[in-house]
Amino acid sequence: RSKDAGGGKFHIYEPQLHVEAEERRRLEVALRTAVEQGQMHLAYQPVVDATSTKLTGFEALLRWVHPEYGPISPAKFVPLAEEARLIAPIGEWVLRTACREAANWPSDVRVAVNVSPDQLHDPNFVAVVASALANSGLTADRLELEVTESVFMREGTGAVRVLERILDLGVRLSLDDFGTGYSSLGYLSRTRFSSIKIDRSFVQGASKGVREAIAIIRAVVALAKSLGMATTAEGVETEAEHQMVQELGCSKVQGYYFGRPLPVDEARNLANQRRWNDAAAA
Ligand code: C2E
Ligand code: MG
Ligand code: MG
Ligand code: MG
Repeated sequence: RSKDAGGGKFHIYEPQLHVEAEERRRLEVALRTAVEQGQMHLAYQPVVDATSTKLTGFEALLRWVHPEYGPISPAKFVPLAEEARLIAPIGEWVLRTACREAANWPSDVRVAVNVSPDQLHDPNFVAVVASALANSGLTADRLELEVTESVFMREGTGAVRVLERILDLGVRLSLDDFGTGYSSLGYLSRTRFSSIKIDRSFVQGASKGVREAIAIIRAVVALAKSLGMATTAEGVETEAEHQMVQELGCSKVQGYYFGRPLPVDEARNLANQRRWNDAAAA
């Protein structure tokens, strides 16, 4: 399918529409059993301090390898799982797995887990988080939940209350893909985020010298600082991009330049090696 199709929103040709509907239906059926069949796993992408480039944690990213269709991108199946109301059980599996796996890392290495709006609109989610921590032995301050602005778009204050109770557990929150949704600064003053993640599109724009992108990063960094929040630049792919976002004042960086999402064993090795390096340097 053409990339110009606008994320699947525009379909010019009728036959394409049929193919897409059929593919969606097949994927949805497959998604219903993917977790039970052991087809899902997590990959962990390093997040590092922008200045020292020391590892601070990993973001857990969901991976699905279907025995027949092969690897399917979360950018494709997560929205589908959300629409089909399948994201809550999958998300619970992600959370429990990430906490269990991260509990094996050095105690100053955090794990960030992406959470969908559906999960946050379920009051029972607080108990799920508490139980994932208790069962894994991971301390609450090592868990960070990444939420997007879309969580605040639904009616009512249910999600805000769930977020507050999660904060009360000692878990951190970060605002993912900042600037790509319908941003309202009100959320930032009402919810205690530890960090704001600046979307890759701004990082890319800034490195190409797009003045608006640079201005936006500068403004977000200033805003975050004045609210006592950190900023993470997403999708840093080159040394030049790293230098750029560091100069703009971003506190943390994440991207292919520092590491691709890794299998759990490699993530653990990297975390341990870093500790060894620090000890050797001291
Ligand atoms: P995200 O949370 O913004 O995650 C960052 C995405 O950017 C990841 O894509 C990551 O692999 C990719 N990325 C990181 N560094 C670079 C880079 O330097 N260049 C480029 N081009 N890309 C980079 P991924 O793993 O395909 O995930 C896509 C999205 O799917 C995530 O975006 C997140 O919104 C969603 N997702 C992934 N795992 C989960 C999950 O467990 N639960 C939920 N609800 N959503 C998830
Ligand atoms: Mg994320
Ligand atoms: Mg992100
Ligand atoms: Mg993003």
